[in-house]
Amino acid sequence: MLAEAERKLTLERDLAQAMESGELSMHLQLQIDHRHVPVGAELLMRWCRPDGSFVPPDVFIPAAESSGLIYPLGQWVLRQACEYWLRLQRAGMAVPLSVNVSPLQFRQPDFVEQVCAILVETGAPASQLIFEVTEGLLVNDLNETIARMHELAQMGIRFSIDDFGTGYSNLAYLKKMPLYELKIDKSFIRDTPGDVNGTAIVQSILAMADHLGLRVVAEGVETGEQAAFLAANRKPAMQGFLFSRPVPLDDFISQMKVWRAKAAA
Ligand code: C2E
Ligand code: MG
Ligand code: MG
Repeated sequence: MLAEAERKLTLERDLAQAMESGELSMHLQLQIDHRHVPVGAELLMRWCRPDGSFVPPDVFIPAAESSGLIYPLGQWVLRQACEYWLRLQRAGMAVPLSVNVSPLQFRQPDFVEQVCAILVETGAPASQLIFEVTEGLLVNDLNETIARMHELAQMGIRFSIDDFGTGYSNLAYLKKMPLYELKIDKSFIRDTPGDVNGTAIVQSILAMADHLGLRVVAEGVETGEQAAFLAANRKPAMQGFLFSRPVPLDDFISQMKVWRAKAAA
């Protein structure tokens, strides 16, 4: 117990230092449609320690949340997203960028003002940002959450439910929110097309999203069979190692050129 608490404290302290010394960076992972045309990218945070080792976000994001570092970190991510979009635009390779927003960050009383300030400061268009939130956001203060989402949506921000299907069973919220997209969790994609139940879940989510007029991104596409199954089932956008791993901005721009050239050929 004590060892665990110490480990957590050390991690939080190291993370604070990592922020100061520029050990954190953002990578981009491509999203493509069924014709393999690039349609977007997700920004994913990376922490590379001075010794060259990587700390996975599944480890350091919870530490950022428990220590409160997620607040400055979340703002930094938003600013990075805006700056990356402007750099992509200058390279002629702009696509909408998806940003993971922690529930804690979203619930800050001045979150809308923070977003506004960063958009004004950077000059990036709100319409090019998609905020990925998880179903965990919907557990508390649902009415307030929905009201805040509407405020941001009015500014042009679009919303996506990340890891859809893993968090919260009450689907009534889907009708009340200004949603643009659902991201099918990779645990469901992993089970297609081999597993009957997994396949049925993916097909049900796709059908429901269609009826609700929501775009879908299938996350964690790793095999040609999975991509073929999705192309034969309502053709959601796809993101996964089959197409690209998350990469730094310059590599992403090079990749985009190749994908666009292939799609145009
Ligand atoms: P997420 O938002 O669901 O991101 C998708 C995760 O799936 C990423 O893991 C990505 O690298 C991984 N992935 C993509 N394609 C494949 C695939 O084909 N196979 C497999 N096995 N994995 C794939 P990553 O980068 O380790 O991030 C883990 C989680 O950490 C993210 O899950 C997100 O919840 C959180 N995270 C990452 N960056 C940020 C950030 O900037 N802010 C916040 N609040 N959370 C972040
Ligand atoms: Mg995400
Ligand atoms: Mg996800």
